[in-house]
Amino acid sequence: MTTQQSASTNDTAPTGDILIRGAHLLTQDPEFGELVGDVLIRNGKIAAIGPDLGSADTGGVTVIDGTDRAVLPGFVDTHRHTWQGAVRQTGIGWDFGAYRQHIQLTWGPEYTPDDVYVGNIIGALGALDAGITTLRDESHIQNSPDHSDQAVAALQDSGIRGVFAYGWPSIDSNKWMLRGEATHPNDIRRVRQQLLPDDTARVTLQAMLRGPELSTTEVTAQDLALARELGVRSSMHVGNGPWGPEFRGIGSLGEAGLLGEDLLFIHCCTSDDEELRMLADSGAHASVSAAIEAVLPGLGAPATGRLLAHGIRPSLSIDTEATVAGDMFNVMRSALTAHGLGITMQPEAYADLPAFTPRDLLEFATIAGAKASGLADRTGSLTVGKDADLIVFRLDQFTTVPSSDIAASIVGAGHPGNVETVLVAGKAAKWNGHLTHPDLADLRTRGEASRDRLLATPLVEG
Ligand SMILES: [Zn+2]
Repeated sequence: MTTQQSASTNDTAPTGDILIRGAHLLTQDPEFGELVGDVLIRNGKIAAIGPDLGSADTGGVTVIDGTDRAVLPGFVDTHRHTWQGAVRQTGIGWDFGAYRQHIQLTWGPEYTPDDVYVGNIIGALGALDAGITTLRDESHIQNSPDHSDQAVAALQDSGIRGVFAYGWPSIDSNKWMLRGEATHPNDIRRVRQQLLPDDTARVTLQAMLRGPELSTTEVTAQDLALARELGVRSSMHVGNGPWGPEFRGIGSLGEAGLLGEDLLFIHCCTSDDEELRMLADSGAHASVSAAIEAVLPGLGAPATGRLLAHGIRPSLSIDTEATVAGDMFNVMRSALTAHGLGITMQPEAYADLPAFTPRDLLEFATIAGAKASGLADRTGSLTVGKDADLIVFRLDQFTTVPSSDIAASIVGAGHPGNVETVLVAGKAAKWNGHLTHPDLADLRTRGEASRDRLLATPLVEG
């Protein structure tokens, strides 16, 4: 028996299998491309895709009417310091000095394990609300083992597909940042062995390393050896403003023979062309945080066009909600805005860079992010056999009607309010416009208390 259930009229999220009928499918799968059709979800996985699955066995499923809806893979945010969720938008307009003073010197050392839990779950729920189904949580708030445990627990409780990228403490900032010589915290071994040993789980472990620009090449070599011994992928921030040309993070790792497919390089704004070539040759990945790069003075222009010129299909990321919005629509449009502004401001530097389209940006925000996160075997596209991580996007609102091109409507005018339904492994994290997490009111109260306590801390002078 089929339960006809219009997503626009029923508030009860289904617990079983789902059939989406007659939607615009932007699959990101080369076999299917784009089509108007159906998606069948069974046991949390994509069981079938086709123009009309009417003849398939669809017994017992909840049907979503896909009329005026686009369905696409959930977005993959490859870099977010999620712990800062409760202080989101406190730093709109900050420069790096203000970020460092507030986050690294003042609030970071004050974070309790509960603050980390609250920040992470608020951040993750906000991501889900905006259609981000996979979140690489770049977590440099490992002030104690309890902090790490709470960060992981929040990702698990949120319902998101999470990568916990274990970073360093936000105490004693000079030790851990700005060319500090400490090696990566050893507690990552405990996290690997006791908390996150299973690489097929919904929440998995990676390492957020400081890399040659925030530590040294020698430290990075030791840190990478640790990550590779534990069998986890690593990310690092490189091409950060003036540190890019001064320390050449990718270049120094390349010369040391340390590059590999298991690495994700974040920003790359001021990494030089030789470094981007080395990145491409090694099969490593890149993450463009176009919104923060465009707004934070001195970080550097988003490298989208330069990466494409070297054959690298970048992933996209939010970075920190302290200074930018937490949704992927803002990042995609920022990439376009920054590229256009680059052509205006530096016509010679941009003359030979490839242009990119809304379809490219949707690829960057989905399957490229899954590849960069080492998760392309289970998410990032609507592919039979993958986990059902997808979003249903409304095209019938008056910000998008009449749509003449679905991808252009999503990238050009999309916002979290268009994201009607969000599934992670077939489970509804958002249904009919509402998050399904049962404790939203309590989490909001806890978030406000965490925010109030942190913001009341007297600012530490840098
Ligand atoms: Zn970052």
